[in-house]
Amino acid sequence: MINRHIKIQMNKTAEILCVGTELLLGNTINTNAAYLGRKLSSIGIFVYYSTVIGDNVERLKSALSLALSRSDIVITTGGLGPTYDDLTKETVAEYFGLKMEMHQHSLERIRSYFNKLQRHITPNNEKQAMMPTGAVVFDNDYGTAPALAVANADKSKMVILLPGPPREMQPMYEEKVKPFLLHQFTANTLVSKMLNIFGMGESAVESKLIEIMRNSTNPTVAPYAKFGEVELRITASGKNESECMKLIEPTIEKIYSILGDVIYGIDAISLQNKLVEVLHKQNLTIATAESCTGGYISKRITDISGSSDVFVGGVTTYSNASKVAILNVSEKTLATYGAVSGQTACEMAKNVAKLFHSDIGVSSTGIAGPTGGSAEKPVGLVYIGYYYNGNNYAIKLNIGRGSSDDRESIRYIAASYALNEVLKQFDLDK
Ligand code: AMP
Ligand code: MG
Repeated sequence: MINRHIKIQMNKTAEILCVGTELLLGNTINTNAAYLGRKLSSIGIFVYYSTVIGDNVERLKSALSLALSRSDIVITTGGLGPTYDDLTKETVAEYFGLKMEMHQHSLERIRSYFNKLQRHITPNNEKQAMMPTGAVVFDNDYGTAPALAVANADKSKMVILLPGPPREMQPMYEEKVKPFLLHQFTANTLVSKMLNIFGMGESAVESKLIEIMRNSTNPTVAPYAKFGEVELRITASGKNESECMKLIEPTIEKIYSILGDVIYGIDAISLQNKLVEVLHKQNLTIATAESCTGGYISKRITDISGSSDVFVGGVTTYSNASKVAILNVSEKTLATYGAVSGQTACEMAKNVAKLFHSDIGVSSTGIAGPTGGSAEKPVGLVYIGYYYNGNNYAIKLNIGRGSSDDRESIRYIAASYALNEVLKQFDLDK
């Protein structure tokens, strides 16, 4: 019954169908669609539509029919569970006119799963081992419901069914479905590298790279804007990984020569990931003194596992009084230049390093808005202070865009600048 050779025309358009009434009601956030959208685009499969349907056979059938009319691959999540409302598999089988039969291998796996937990298996659970004839079955190492792929009679369309829980769906996609898709749709391997860019907007990046982007077919170069950053994805197709890398490397070099310092990493994930890695390699420690970012800098550093080796501690000193009492910022500085000033930022950075006995101190002080701005000190004015080994300075940012809902983005982007400022000093790759 296992058919490893479903081959369909390479066309690379996919549609995501997320099944579950809880998603429609807003009780569960549809993270599966976001995850799959990201993952599929990273291997060069275009997602043109993404749909949410409740646990209802008729509506699922009509969504399936519409999806298959306009996409080559439909990927569903949810509705593979043991209960009466989990009907995705049965509906897809019926749609393709396929009978359901017991898949012995899956049945044994489900039985041993229950044995291990010393729980009784119910007929419901056995239902999870029923598969449409001709399906390719993917073992689920993270739960009971196997995933599967089925194709229509002339093999021109394929549906891949994944379980709903993200902790099962994500590793199953990565370990089983992604290699399957790559194998089905191309004899080639696809390799993708991501350049991480901070300090230049998407349109500026695009205009500098427009020639490369237009003229590159293998590898392709595509920019994505992301929270004040830009990611450039470079994807090559070739016989194997080393052939792909040979195609990618000259393009990366060309892009480095054009964009230079604004590239902070390759596949770096985030500024904080890269910063923790770089400080760790150089045995350096850091402390944070935050005002307008309210703890965002320390939060983002401590999001990274392993940050305890480099992050000593941080304070959020919001009021002038706390800047004086905790960080020993001089009252004269505050009175002369104000809390939002380069001088205050410098003292905060220097004194927090002293307070925590860290090598590096970094600070933020600014006006996050929407209120509190003035002509002289507008919303979005932020100073980032830096201290290391006697070197103490501040940079001035103007990151307000003039809209009333800027507060969150000003705070986040100010934190990004702070992380980037430290990274710039110690990233030996630059
Ligand atoms: P199911 O496979 O339909 O039984 O789904 C089981 C559980 O997975 C649901 O109760 C949700 O908690 C979760 N889930 C299902 N679909 C999604 C989705 N699209 N995004 C995030 N979680 C989901
Ligand atoms: Mg469900």
